[in-house]
Amino acid sequence: MASLFTHTLAGAVIGQAGKPDWRKDWRYWFVVVAYSMLPDIDSIGFHMGVPYGALWGHRGLTHSLLFAFIFAAFAAMWLDGRFHRQWEMAILFFLVMASHGLLDAMTNGGLGVAFLSPLDTQRYFFPWRPILVSPISLSGFFTARGLRIMGNEILWIWCPALVLFALIKLLQLRPPLPAEDSPLRNEQV
Ligand SMILES: [Zn+2]
Repeated sequence: MASLFTHTLAGAVIGQAGKPDWRKDWRYWFVVVAYSMLPDIDSIGFHMGVPYGALWGHRGLTHSLLFAFIFAAFAAMWLDGRFHRQWEMAILFFLVMASHGLLDAMTNGGLGVAFLSPLDTQRYFFPWRPILVSPISLSGFFTARGLRIMGNEILWIWCPALVLFALIKLLQLRPPLPAEDSPLRNEQV
């Protein structure tokens, strides 16, 4: 795993792409923060002795795209009734959760990520893996190695996340297009 804080940061940046009314709702941010970390719920099993390479092992089913898809759909339905176009929200939640596995697949340690589980339990890594793997236990952070990992994550995740954040904010500065039936739009034609 990358560190949980870094996973949350990446998810929060993706969450910025949400519509303005979504971003005003605390429940939206609750889902974004929870989902960026949720795949690592499998570390409970890891501490209880579930083998790393098992279906429920670390980076197994909970890191799969199907898991992200199902949870994204549920969360979008949970927020249903308040917002329009829930499928767009579901896509965003999916991206938040899938970002976790993508980052894990760029780390240099452990087993790969079972993206296609349970259909295919094969573990995958990306060919390019610049991110140093994080310790699963919290105490592992307060060491020289922990500091090195933070520096590495700042370079390979925080900096690109900052660029993405700036890009999203720039795009959001554009004035929205007038609605189809708006007189403004007809004037432009
Ligand atoms: Zn993970």
